[in-house]
Amino acid sequence: MIKINVAQIKKRLVGDKPLAFDLEPAELEISPEEMGIIGTVKLVGSMSNAGDVLLLQAHMECQVQRTCGRCLQEFVGVTKAEVVEKFYPASADNIENDAFVYDSDVIDITEPLREGLLLAEPMQALCKPDCRGLCPVCGADLNDGDCGCDRLTVDPRLAALKQFIKN
Ligand SMILES: [Zn+2]
Ligand SMILES: [Zn+2]
Repeated sequence: MIKINVAQIKKRLVGDKPLAFDLEPAELEISPEEMGIIGTVKLVGSMSNAGDVLLLQAHMECQVQRTCGRCLQEFVGVTKAEVVEKFYPASADNIENDAFVYDSDVIDITEPLREGLLLAEPMQALCKPDCRGLCPVCGADLNDGDCGCDRLTVDPRLAALKQFIKN
């Protein structure tokens, strides 16, 4: 959980509170199953008083262990996330349903940071943009060189069927 004290910036209408953290995945409540973060998440940002709301702005960056969606090799990638989120005083009128509210001088900013980082992680990661993937016929990693299979004329499902008929 990441909490920051906003007692000072609530009193000032100008200026902001700079934020700089090295966050453990557990502090962000992100499990290794959700995202394979290596080491800590670097965060720089600010909390500022925007008059009726407090504005959180944060840039996060971390290294992530990923599995390539094409060749299934493990590799290390970098995830960067930008988070901009408003926090409304609990006493304010017309607060949107999904808005973040605060009712004390200490604000828990874990949820927007957690969501922002998870959303920034690509659904399908590639070890490199031109990853050649696995041969659909024999399963060889084509980044290591060509396996010699005829992949252009034979649909892999047909190849499996042919094999089945032969046997
Ligand atoms: Zn790959
Ligand atoms: Zn092959």
